[in-house]
Amino acid sequence: MKKITKIILLSLVSIFYIGCKKKSVKVSQEEPLNIILMIGDGMGLAQISTAFYFGEKIPNFEQFKNIGFIKTPSTSHTITDSAAGATAFSTGQKTYKRSIGMSKDSLPIPTIIETLQEKGYQSGLVSLTPITHATPGAFYAHVKDRDLHEDIALDLVKSNVDFFAGGGLKYLKHRSDEKDLYAELIAKNYQLDSVKLSKYDINKKNGYLLADEGLPSKTEGRKSFFQDATQLGLDYLTEKEKPFFLMIEGSYIDWGGHAMDAELLKQEVLDFDKTLGLVLKYIKKHPNTLLVVTADHETGGVSIGKSYVIDEKTGERSEEVDNVSINFNNDQHSGTLIPVFAEGRGSENFRGIYENNEIYHKIFKSINNK
Ligand SMILES: [Zn+2]
Repeated sequence: MKKITKIILLSLVSIFYIGCKKKSVKVSQEEPLNIILMIGDGMGLAQISTAFYFGEKIPNFEQFKNIGFIKTPSTSHTITDSAAGATAFSTGQKTYKRSIGMSKDSLPIPTIIETLQEKGYQSGLVSLTPITHATPGAFYAHVKDRDLHEDIALDLVKSNVDFFAGGGLKYLKHRSDEKDLYAELIAKNYQLDSVKLSKYDINKKNGYLLADEGLPSKTEGRKSFFQDATQLGLDYLTEKEKPFFLMIEGSYIDWGGHAMDAELLKQEVLDFDKTLGLVLKYIKKHPNTLLVVTADHETGGVSIGKSYVIDEKTGERSEEVDNVSINFNNDQHSGTLIPVFAEGRGSENFRGIYENNEIYHKIFKSINNK
């Protein structure tokens, strides 16, 4: 090929390439952005690391390129809890420990679900705990203390959340005020199921409350609820063809820390990673989606250290050079920086080190293409 022809050909190819690239970016930015926020309750870097040591495959966490860290203190306590942590994500404001959707002065502040509903968004919540528990509750309720489950349930009825799956049936059905919130939701055009993750009704809102309190943990025999509920939520919200916000909580990584139970911690992290895999697959098919994966705080002061075996006869300790042990500092939350992983449109906004409430503002920055 003559040099000049080659140059012309190359220029044509690059013009075509730039043209395509520009066009695809423009199209996707005109569409409203879907938001998926995955919260691994109590999931610090050591918890995530367990997936790298104990998983059978390369963890899905390894797919992320945009990674940051958050500082987690609440306004009242340096070591935070799930209520203040989730409220920082859901409202963009730091608040006091135990607050559900309330400011540091105990005034209700709009949550991301309420703000996005005004923009025509649908919303969904997936949790393993009661749907009235601190993390999911902070996304739709406004109460002064996280233990007020029955009040949080009253706010669930008012919230118009399009899809929810988790536990907590008793806070709707067996209440001290004898109200039947289950019946009230059905009257508000919800299809509800308290037995299984049945097929959703596309013409209704859908709620699944599969336990009186929380669902079983992995070590108690939970099967594929976390993946199935997440997939069901994604299918439903996608089929409705409106933008959505979906919060998915891996609730029991925190419990592994509180119980100082290495097996529970490992299994819950691996289950979280498995669910993350299906969400990342969704993002590949639906690039007009932002996924943010983080935690409210770390639990247990967990570290990954040397593993030892003790000789029964001599009592001598020797290192297992090809193994590690999961060590707990105590059974409480800790104050370490928490990793943030992001994928999809706007994911570059999540690099750096910043306060936990910035997650909310960065989500809106991504929605507004800034
Ligand atoms: Zn906790």
